[in-house]
Amino acid sequence: MKKYLFVANWKLNGSIEFISNYFKFFNTSSEIGLEKNIIVIAPPAIYLNEVYKNIHSMNIFLGAQNVDKNLTGAFTGETSILMLKDIGVKYVIVGHSERRLLHNENNDLIIKKFDLIKSLNLIPILCVGETEKEKKHGQTKIVIEEQLNCVLTALGTSAFRNTVIAYEPVWAIGTGLSADPKYVQCIHKFIRNYIEKYDPISAKNIFIQYGGSINSVNAEEFIKQPDINGLLIGSASLDYQEFLKIIELSK
Ligand code: PEP
Repeated sequence: MKKYLFVANWKLNGSIEFISNYFKFFNTSSEIGLEKNIIVIAPPAIYLNEVYKNIHSMNIFLGAQNVDKNLTGAFTGETSILMLKDIGVKYVIVGHSERRLLHNENNDLIIKKFDLIKSLNLIPILCVGETEKEKKHGQTKIVIEEQLNCVLTALGTSAFRNTVIAYEPVWAIGTGLSADPKYVQCIHKFIRNYIEKYDPISAKNIFIQYGGSINSVNAEEFIKQPDINGLLIGSASLDYQEFLKIIELSK
């Protein structure tokens, strides 16, 4: 049976009260697929600990939305990978389009963060994907290949071991315009084939997730596709019932 990775990216949302209500209805029951799949909750950094208190006894992992490129020192306002590891984080999102576009994160910075995450034995969720303009110009595969190439060139052919790739077309994030599942399947196959050229074992085992306006109505068509191994979910993950419904679809 296929095992999926479902990641809830809460972005800049949440509060102590929100967290306590959110997890009231989560339990370890295999009925809702928490046992069979890998579930990750990525709250804002300030709430990582609060979420951890709620999930550590369940089969749910803690994810961070971002990390600094430095380990310690005079970097006001930043969070280090050592600190994330210290409080129980297992997965770290890196290269999200909101960070690429709104915080000017380029591939060089993303590689540094990716490398740090791996060096501490945490799992990076590397987001790749094209903008609407790039899609219109038929550049999707070129853009993704470039985003993967920089990681591979900098870190070598083992870069994709213990890594997650999230294909997130920028035009589909937070817009309500999810991509066509068949189109996503093609891109995921393309990503898997790319990895296979350098590291056949990773290509077989790697989780390649899709992200972009997923909800409980459209999720099933995506997870049915052979090369879609999970979903990175933004807005819909803020509603615990909606998030659980999506997980249940994997049964
Ligand atoms: C995301 O932020 O990664 C995302 C996929 O958001 P949404 O589900 O809201 O489109």
